Amino acid sequence: MSRIYNFSAGPSTLPEEVLIQAREEMLDWQRTGMSVMEMSHRGKQFLKVAEQLSADLIELLNIPANYKVLFLQGGATAQFAMIPLNLLAGKQTANYVLTGAWSKKAIKEAKKYCQVKIAASSEQDNFTSIPALNTWEVDQQAAYLHYTPNETIHGVEFHEVPEVGQLPLVVDMSSNILSKQIDVNQYGLIYAGSQKNMGPAGLTVVIVREDLLGSADAKTPSVFEYSEQIASDSMLNTPATYNWYLVGLVLQWLKRQGGLSAIEQINSRKSTKLYQAIDESSLYSNPVNTNCRSRMNIPFILGDASLNSAFLQQAQENGFEALKGHRAVGGMRASIYNAMPEQGVDALIQFMAEFERTH
Ligand code: PMP
Repeated sequence: MSRIYNFSAGPSTLPEEVLIQAREEMLDWQRTGMSVMEMSHRGKQFLKVAEQLSADLIELLNIPANYKVLFLQGGATAQFAMIPLNLLAGKQTANYVLTGAWSKKAIKEAKKYCQVKIAASSEQDNFTSIPALNTWEVDQQAAYLHYTPNETIHGVEFHEVPEVGQLPLVVDMSSNILSKQIDVNQYGLIYAGSQKNMGPAGLTVVIVREDLLGSADAKTPSVFEYSEQIASDSMLNTPATYNWYLVGLVLQWLKRQGGLSAIEQINSRKSTKLYQAIDESSLYSNPVNTNCRSRMNIPFILGDASLNSAFLQQAQENGFEALKGHRAVGGMRASIYNAMPEQGVDALIQFMAEFERTH
């Protein structure tokens, strides 16, 4: 068996140990004679999986007791609607920061439910920067402020949490959750799809501060109402049980790596060396301001675009998959989430240098 290095933005590479464990437990989980896939979500065996998943997430992110943790479906995209539905609490306006393709989608959806106040935007520079905080125009009477700490397509990451007074911060951490230590207390609500740093696609984590709950719009569908999901332990409808199990295995793996402080250091090393290789080369470049470059998604453009297809073909022949950039940015993109081994980044850097030398 040979595994390639998969730089996909998501669904993305998973820790090999996790895949092996899932294979070993596929037919018979912990001597139950069943696959986790086959278990009732109400049975005591599955409840053990669910409790462990929740406990491990709380431990890894150090989630305080006044926050609720939910495991939902519908991806981060469902959250784009659920957030205004649940958090407007009678208000008409919410602040949104526009820093790339994903915050743009969140804004488009929110506009169905409220007036969106664009507090700051980097659209005029093609989403290669984050507007300085002192230029933001924040409506303090609005329900919350939403931003996207890591823009997966544009490769832009916030390295600091913006201070906006008492407004609850609502953040789409889909592509950088669990990649570094955070202080959950700084946020009102954190949400993230699973298919990057947490496991396969199909599960959405929501971490919400208790005092924001209980004022959902009356027309909110029950499965979309946080309070109803909390009351039924995220099992208002049948959950994606096998995904819960797989995300649980990834969290256990993360704990074995030393948790978030350890993975943060590795992520910092991996991204620093890839940016360094890009900056030092005369073929590749990264368009993003150095103060907000993503540690997870690294776009790079070839100076001569006619080399793109040769680059991709040779990359594939050498065991590097999914390096084609998003069409909104062009060029290439290497997504290097937690599960991408450092050797994968080293090998990519070597390949890029060799390609530059021969072209
Ligand atoms: N937000 C961000 C930052 C993302 O990267 C993605 C997926 N790439 C989404 C939202 C949408 O996630 P989903 O397809 O799971 O709804």
